[in-house]
Amino acid sequence: MNNYENISGGQNFDQTSGAIRTMDEFGRIIIPKIVRERMCLLEGDQFEIVTQGTQIIFIRHEPKCFVCEDDINVQKVGRGYLCEEHREMVEEIIA
Ligand SMILES: [Zn+2]
Repeated sequence: MNNYENISGGQNFDQTSGAIRTMDEFGRIIIPKIVRERMCLLEGDQFEIVTQGTQIIFIRHEPKCFVCEDDINVQKVGRGYLCEEHREMVEEIIA
């Protein structure tokens, strides 16, 4: 058994960074640079954090317009997200 099998409990994952990180007092963990580059993660990206058994899974949050489900140029409006076209429609309605 190699180190990775030790860490993963023998499960098959796509790739491992081999890095072990320590959570700080605020619950923060640094994602290794090699993982950020591999996954094209950028500062400001948002994640949904889910648990599965003993695993913690970070799912990149990719907001979609709640009207048309488009994911291009989506911005938060109130409690949901809208694309540019639907933001303009809402602005016309409330103007
Ligand atoms: Zn839309």
